[in-house]
Amino acid sequence: MPSEHAGISGEGRMTGVTVQELLSGAGQRLAAAGIETPALDARILLAEVLSVEPGRLVSCGREMAPHDAVEMFEALVGRRLAGEPVHRILGRREFYGRTFLLTPECLIPRPETELLVDRVLQDFGEGLPARFVDVGCGSGVICVSLLAENPALSAVATDLAGGALEATGVNAQRHGVADRLEMVRTSFLSDIEGPFAFIVSNPPYIATGEMAGLSREVREHDPDLALDGGPDGLEAYRAILSQAHGRLRPAGRLYLETGHGQHDAIMQLAKELRWGIVSSHLDLSGRERMVVLEKR
Ligand code: GLN
Repeated sequence: MPSEHAGISGEGRMTGVTVQELLSGAGQRLAAAGIETPALDARILLAEVLSVEPGRLVSCGREMAPHDAVEMFEALVGRRLAGEPVHRILGRREFYGRTFLLTPECLIPRPETELLVDRVLQDFGEGLPARFVDVGCGSGVICVSLLAENPALSAVATDLAGGALEATGVNAQRHGVADRLEMVRTSFLSDIEGPFAFIVSNPPYIATGEMAGLSREVREHDPDLALDGGPDGLEAYRAILSQAHGRLRPAGRLYLETGHGQHDAIMQLAKELRWGIVSSHLDLSGRERMVVLEKR
């Protein structure tokens, strides 16, 4: 843990460069490269190599930086300049108040997905026992958060990517929920037997033809498997909506994150496949982001 006093001056050789100079130099280079939040990114990366909280950097701004820290910082800034997202560089991301390890096979969890967790907890919070599936668990943010928030829940997490399941396993251990989580490497709900009280998923939902138009950060550093939803972006929803029926209890619920502009098509699909519609929800920027369905 970072010490109480800003003391970044370690044992190693010092440079003649101050923390503040390093920060502003990197911030300028990141800004010139068109990075969206240059100052913030520089701060997070420098805090990482100096092992201090990002919020403490300013208070040690006049201190000289150790030689190895400068070298490490240069390497991280180089990766950021090449388009790698900050959380990919750190290999971890905060989600619903906890820190999650990421492997290259995990999608970087998005803050919008916290709404999905929140919505499930409205129905299954506070000690209510239930067994559920997290389909396409990635780093495990959804299932691990739910299990940690409600100790009476147990779950199965599925993913096609072995590296994603590895991350989910580590994250489940870290947050003390591994004894209530089973992990299965499979496609959506194949090989999974119910009955479950609910199924939750933030599936890949980008149409294949739109993949090339994603930002470089996403396109080059989030795994295709976690993004690509087939020709119309709805392939995962088709699979989950048809497989989920047989795995849910009567009146069992399905909580799905949805992509921009997909809401109506997913509702149509849900009706065709005879799901009851419970609710749809917007995210904080006012976009349709989530649907809740019920087995009829
Ligand atoms: N469930 C994980 C998340 O929400 C992974 C989602 C995905 O890979 N599409 O971050």
